[in-house]
Amino acid sequence: MSRSPVEIPEEYGLFIDGEWVDASSGETFETIDPASEEVVATVAAANADDVDAAVSNAADALDEWRSVPGRERGRILMDVADAIREDADRLAWIETVDNGKPLSQAKTDVLRCGEYVAYYAGMADKIEGESIPMSEGYVDYTVHEPLGVTGHIIPWNFPVGILGRGLAPALAAGNTVVAKPAEQTPLSALEIGALAVEAGLPAGVFNVVPGFGPDAGEPLVRHDDVAQVTFTGSVPTGRLVGKAAIEGLKPVHLELGGKNPNVVYPDADLDRAVESTVKSIFSRNAGQVCSSGSRLLLHEDVHDEFLDRLLTAVDDLSIAPGVEDPDVAAITSKEQFDSIMEYIEIGREEAGEPLIGGEAVDRTGYFIEPTIFDGVEMDMRIAREEIFGPVLSVLTFSDEREAIEIANDVDYGLVSGIFTSDIGRAHRFAREVDAGGVYINEWFSSGIEAPFGGYKDSGLGRAKGLAALEEYTQTKNVCARI
Ligand code: NAD
Repeated sequence: MSRSPVEIPEEYGLFIDGEWVDASSGETFETIDPASEEVVATVAAANADDVDAAVSNAADALDEWRSVPGRERGRILMDVADAIREDADRLAWIETVDNGKPLSQAKTDVLRCGEYVAYYAGMADKIEGESIPMSEGYVDYTVHEPLGVTGHIIPWNFPVGILGRGLAPALAAGNTVVAKPAEQTPLSALEIGALAVEAGLPAGVFNVVPGFGPDAGEPLVRHDDVAQVTFTGSVPTGRLVGKAAIEGLKPVHLELGGKNPNVVYPDADLDRAVESTVKSIFSRNAGQVCSSGSRLLLHEDVHDEFLDRLLTAVDDLSIAPGVEDPDVAAITSKEQFDSIMEYIEIGREEAGEPLIGGEAVDRTGYFIEPTIFDGVEMDMRIAREEIFGPVLSVLTFSDEREAIEIANDVDYGLVSGIFTSDIGRAHRFAREVDAGGVYINEWFSSGIEAPFGGYKDSGLGRAKGLAALEEYTQTKNVCARI
């Protein structure tokens, strides 16, 4: 275990019905600190029987939880939010050791998880129906009811943030939750489960079943008593999950990958554009972000100057273990490290030597240098496929039409960004780009209040904001003759 000021249990069970339990098979798996390559903890590995136990407890807890008046549900959730925020330093350390990310970013993620719970706690008593005008002699109204037990499948890149993003609106709307964290990063979800019950959430309302996708994720998606599925992860797994959910005729919310265009014009504030570009692909979670700015589209008149400035900024980035809070920390797993290094080799074959980076860092742990390929064309794999690491593909364009064509020429459509001082151009881009989100003169700017989700292969449905409540409610219409 790493030199930890925080005591991390050596063993974690499953968290079901407010209790730690062993996996029914007795099987466990290890979670690894990607900066030291040491084992952080041994974790119980759930299988279909364990998922069944968790779902059954969540189903038993449903009647009570959905009957708690909204205001009281909100009060309980606010206590959970406070507990998460108060414990942020400890949780952040655990997240950093489990995932690798810089400590300050892990703390931001933990606080954001608390913010999600607080934000939706405030909505628990504001899920209102509508009154529909009808012909005389009738009264018609709608009620937005919870769906039931919701299944949440979480990726490894933002384990605690993405957990909170789905958990909070689901619970606020009166659903119960079974969450399956990613096998690479199970600890924060387990910690939040226990913390929530300590803070007053009734047992069984939120259960956590760590384990592998086919063993624990698929049984959760396919379980007859799971009424809705929220999946965040890759497109191929998203397709499998989507198919399985639709076979069971249950609503599915898919938050998938991206290959997001970051478009820079010569009239942009270049200092801000460089700073945002660095954040968008290198210094936030080492580029392991669905909404990273992985394709940089430079107008030909600013190409050289922008790259000069960008290279200077990237050269200054510190690379170190997450607990030292560097700019760029370790890649979360060996598997992801290998996949990124493979893409760097593909990039070399397609576009030639990178302008900077291109190597693993020569030290223990899964560290990769921030890497920039220039001269990328849209028929190259590094222009079209999600690399999910600190690797930037630079393309050049000469006018607005070409910028939009390049921006839209991928299967993904998660987010996009434009840097320009021409307001008209920025909004023309916003209108024409095929993406669920548009950042103007900033990257990662949208808050938890704004809807987030993908166009095209980047997903179905919307997280965050008021929009997320629609994912966790169903509408009943009541029509009465009076
Ligand atoms: P992944 O698809 O490999 O795994 C995601 C989760 O699905 C894990 O918990 C995994 O155990 C589980 N899983 C695997 N097989 C399954 C199956 N057959 N049935 C059910 N569950 C199964 O994705 P990942 O590598 O953990 O995450 C990276 C991907 O997530 C990237 O593509 C990234 O863009 C995407 N992502 C999207 C968002 C978003 O909000 N749009 C946010 C973060 C990450």
